[in-house]
Amino acid sequence: MRPPSSLAAPRRGGLRARSGSAGSGATGSGRWARLCPWPGADDWQAWFLGVAAVVDCGHMFVPEKGVLTVSLRVLLLGTGSPRPTLERANTGQVVFAGGRPILVDCGAGVMRRLLEAGLDPARVTLLFLTHLHSDHTLDYAEFVLGSWAMGRGELAVYGPPGTACLHRLLLLEPYADDIAYRVSVGRSPAGVLDVAIHECPLEPGGIYDDGSLRVRAAPVIHSAPTLAFRFDYAGKSLVISGDTAYCPALVELARGADVLVHDACLAPALALEPNPLWGNLAERLRHHHATPAEAARVAREANVRTLVLTHFLRGVYEDATFEEAEHEFDGEVIVGRDLLEISC
Ligand SMILES: [Zn+2]
Ligand SMILES: [Zn+2]
Repeated sequence: MRPPSSLAAPRRGGLRARSGSAGSGATGSGRWARLCPWPGADDWQAWFLGVAAVVDCGHMFVPEKGVLTVSLRVLLLGTGSPRPTLERANTGQVVFAGGRPILVDCGAGVMRRLLEAGLDPARVTLLFLTHLHSDHTLDYAEFVLGSWAMGRGELAVYGPPGTACLHRLLLLEPYADDIAYRVSVGRSPAGVLDVAIHECPLEPGGIYDDGSLRVRAAPVIHSAPTLAFRFDYAGKSLVISGDTAYCPALVELARGADVLVHDACLAPALALEPNPLWGNLAERLRHHHATPAEAARVAREANVRTLVLTHFLRGVYEDATFEEAEHEFDGEVIVGRDLLEISC
């Protein structure tokens, strides 16, 4: 007994379903309400998914607010880029594998979005970093120290070469006295002084396998060493591109995936219009980021089901972004927004 593949998981506190123009996999009661248009449909969905969890997986998870969830899904925490905006945090997302939250990237604002989503940061014990640019790591110390303060007692971090140096320079050295003080007044050092750092090689291959969740990585094309990640769990698959231009290795990694979250930094946007302050920004970025059409090309060549676009500059034109991707890809296209959740 397995829930239909694109049914959204039950809505969590504080979330709102917002997709650019499509969104059959996007969370919220909308799709389910269309399938089951009687009062209390969300309750039936929770019951149905709960039964599926017990029967299909042999066990069940009880995440936030007692809601039962199964399978694989992604919650977009930040869909912006280095230039701060109120609407979009820097890059970050949570992958839920059977209810277990896994953080992928940790840019500025991601920790606050975690709280807005109703997710206890102390439950996150696994973090993957696609690369070490500031818009993917500025909340690193905030997350590690904050979730430790909230009770997290273990953490493993997977990232490209340089991750151990970042851990030392962003956290251990500047906050050595801070951590020592908190330990001296009774807090366990577990979860902050014993973080397991795994630097992954810049080559395709498996980097994590706990028997149910498998994570593979592949290097992509960016201005810093960057890894895309593929999560396989319970027969579903999700790929997060990291920052990248069009990349054949990413096509291979994403082949047949249910959901692909892809950089679309070069989407039509106010910030890309010629300006005497920064000149032709699009020309400078085009070797290191993707357009919606290029992201859609990857989705088409990899034969994925759903393409989710992210990493937008200030003032992105969402309708034009959607249309550009849809022109290249027959599957579902979603223009990402902060706190949008997509089921695989
Ligand atoms: Zn970057
Ligand atoms: Zn970035």
